[in-house]
Amino acid sequence: MSSSIIPHPRPIELVLGRLRGARRSGNGWLARCPAHDDHAPSLSIAEGPDGRVLLRCHAGCETEAVVRALGLSMRDLFPTHGPRGRRSASAERGPDQDRAASRAPLAMSYVTRRAAW
Ligand SMILES: [Zn+2]
Repeated sequence: MSSSIIPHPRPIELVLGRLRGARRSGNGWLARCPAHDDHAPSLSIAEGPDGRVLLRCHAGCETEAVVRALGLSMRDLFPTHGPRGRRSASAERGPDQDRAASRAPLAMSYVTRRAAW
């Protein structure tokens, strides 16, 4: 077996594993769309250069509907440990926190001035 460590399956493998009868077509795959009553394979699946999964139903289903029909969510289409895509919520700071932070030094200096007297 391969010795490389892959903690998570690639998104494309996750999607293809849930699609029955996906067959290769050009650069991607074709399968029957799980989001509508599909009799011919009208869902095309491809892997983007960054590893994310591109889904397109030729009958017009939303990508989100297809993903949900597979039991997945939109984030499952994206690689989990890419160079981008991680956004920390702590980077955004509320105005209340800033006000509290600026008030603290004022109170401190008041106390130290009293103490020094
Ligand atoms: Zn569809």
